[in-house]
Amino acid sequence: DSISVKTSTNEYAVSIGPGLRFQMERFINKSYSKIFIITDSNVEPLYLPDVLQSLEPSFPVNYTVVPAGESSKSARVYFDIITEVIQSGLDRDSLIIALGGGMVGDLAGFVAATFMRGIDFIQMPTTILAHDSSVGGKVAINHPEGKNLIGSFYPPQAVVYDVDTLHTIPLMEIRSGYAEIVKHSFIHDQPFWEDIEEVDLTKPLLDDQLMNHLFRGIQVKANIVELDEKESNIRQYLNFGHTLGHALESELGYGKLTHGEAVAIGMLFAIKVSEAHFHTELPYQSLFEWLKRNHYPIALPPTINVNNLINRMKKDKKAKKQSVQMVLLRELGEPITESIEDFTLIGLLEQFLRELV
Ligand code: NAD
Ligand code: ZN
Repeated sequence: DSISVKTSTNEYAVSIGPGLRFQMERFINKSYSKIFIITDSNVEPLYLPDVLQSLEPSFPVNYTVVPAGESSKSARVYFDIITEVIQSGLDRDSLIIALGGGMVGDLAGFVAATFMRGIDFIQMPTTILAHDSSVGGKVAINHPEGKNLIGSFYPPQAVVYDVDTLHTIPLMEIRSGYAEIVKHSFIHDQPFWEDIEEVDLTKPLLDDQLMNHLFRGIQVKANIVELDEKESNIRQYLNFGHTLGHALESELGYGKLTHGEAVAIGMLFAIKVSEAHFHTELPYQSLFEWLKRNHYPIALPPTINVNNLINRMKKDKKAKKQSVQMVLLRELGEPITESIEDFTLIGLLEQFLRELV
């Protein structure tokens, strides 16, 4: 099964299914001079041999393995890969394949976007979170001053999502990725959320259920990025849960919570703010219980500082006097961006943090 994503520069298919890593020739329809695979140290032993086996009869293939973890999304690692890419003899008619989670996708995508002003690349996501990161064309590396500060919009030629690879990801990464599926459901509609509610992440993932959720999550993201490729307005809706989520990640220190775990708490808060702002009732309790049932870490250290969080939610330090912009829900499936006065936000955040404990 596949979803087609149209951008201003190309159109690419997101193919989702079991065993796709053994059928790479199906997804490569040009005669590339060379293929260069970028993967990480956790994914390499698990899946690189399969991908190599599926490509090597038809193409000359080289690869590189970067250390697993966010720290590989750096200028140093990027530059070293460019060096290897040059030494491997890649040219404008070569292809780069990103085999891994969102880290590898962002890094390899940025290599592809910048080597010789851009060569073709294919995303092979291997995490649940990467259903989000592999679609939408954002690629980037980090700067010590902040995440994803060096990057580009650069859509892939194809996304090849072999769901069999998802059975080996650690539980905290399952939680992290599923939070983004939950996000896609909350900004889309009630039936999608009701289906996710039935998932039990503490048991082995059920293939049909997982595929169905990934498919629908990607569909939601694809629709939004097609309508708004350059983040001008409706793409903001994808930030649902991310205002407090990002603030928590940086305030607690990266790595304390996974991205999705932080976003999960951020979504709870965004729902609370929505309920207060629109005098409406949303499924706060059902999300809260789902998160608990699935062992999301929800309680935050009591020492966490509300003012620090709010300043971080303002992102830009120069905007300190301005109010925080948040994606809220007028109803489930009806996102809208609103700015919330500090006074209101402080009160809601203090109350929210007390209730979480
Ligand atoms: P990740 O790529 O670091 O993967 C998480 C961990 O799982 C790593 O240790 C990795 O080695 C391991 N792993 C990956 N696949 C595995 C598999 N099949 N089996 C066993 N282990 C496996 O992280 P992620 O959560 O996939 O992605 C996070 C990154 O995505 C961040 O850098 C974030 O900035 C980026 N991101 C980008 C976008 C975008 O639009 N470009 C959107 C969201 C997130
Ligand atoms: Zn996210």
